[in-house]
Amino acid sequence: MISVFGSANMDLVAYVAKAPGLGETVTGRAFRTVPGGKGANQAVAAARAGGRVVFVGAVGEDAFGPELRGALAGAGVDVTHLRTVPGPSGIAHIVVEDSGANSIIVVPGANGTLTGPGEAGAAAIAAAGALLVQLELPMEAVIAAARCADTPVILTPAPAVPLPAELLDAVDLIVPNEHEATAITGHDDPRRALCALLERVPEAVVTLGARGVLYGGRETTPGGPLHVPAFPVTAVDTTAAGDTFVGALAVARAEGGEPAAALRFASAAAALSVQREGATTSMPHRAAIDAFLA
Ligand code: ADP
Repeated sequence: MISVFGSANMDLVAYVAKAPGLGETVTGRAFRTVPGGKGANQAVAAARAGGRVVFVGAVGEDAFGPELRGALAGAGVDVTHLRTVPGPSGIAHIVVEDSGANSIIVVPGANGTLTGPGEAGAAAIAAAGALLVQLELPMEAVIAAARCADTPVILTPAPAVPLPAELLDAVDLIVPNEHEATAITGHDDPRRALCALLERVPEAVVTLGARGVLYGGRETTPGGPLHVPAFPVTAVDTTAAGDTFVGALAVARAEGGEPAAALRFASAAAALSVQREGATTSMPHRAAIDAFLA
């Protein structure tokens, strides 16, 4: 079982030729509501990749709450520990211009009320074989969750914020993209960033988009980092590539794969996802990942 402690947001996406300036009103071309949030996305990615997944988090008492819960349950994720709390659910208000440029306002809502996983959530995390966390919840809540897991804790440090030692002390594997790796370590060069990360956590993966990933482990790669290239595919939408990668990586590691094989499995899942539009809509099922690798 893989536990995920993280955010569930409803993405409210408006498509428009040009985003309005302050005080301006424009007419958009389309609007969609799409269940998202990094936590929920990683949970769906892991479930699709073949994992048994339990999600710990919160939604609000508004109409989005049941929709977010239903989307996770529909993907096969256990939502027993997804609490409903007073007030609104988390939302991301997204404006996408025809150029592809976007601007986003996240209002944490229910996610922002969490101070920890709660007693039952903590028990579910302790009983699982791995914990995935990201940083779209209050830091104190993420630290509390990471501390109750004896099993491997995998941190996606997004959005990039300063990382307290209390958190990193409880993390086994950190998976930033290269921008996050630079923000955390101050190094532009991914190899240097990886080395700096390994001074703080036992294992690290820096994802490099179409250039693949760099992996290092204090014990697993004594000879220096391992580069796993991305699969050469034609990307149409890289939204949630990183979340797809992490969800699939957690599944492969839980199944006991060697680091190189687990990274290859996760890269295949991400390569499949970038060939389709959307976040959870693009995440591949296990059969598709296995077929791609065969
Ligand atoms: P994020 O989505 O967090 O910014 P990246 O862009 O680094 O993360 O992508 C995560 C992983 O997804 C990459 O390491 C790679 O394996 C895969 N990926 C991303 N973009 C592509 C691409 N254009 N072609 C193939 N694989 C890709």
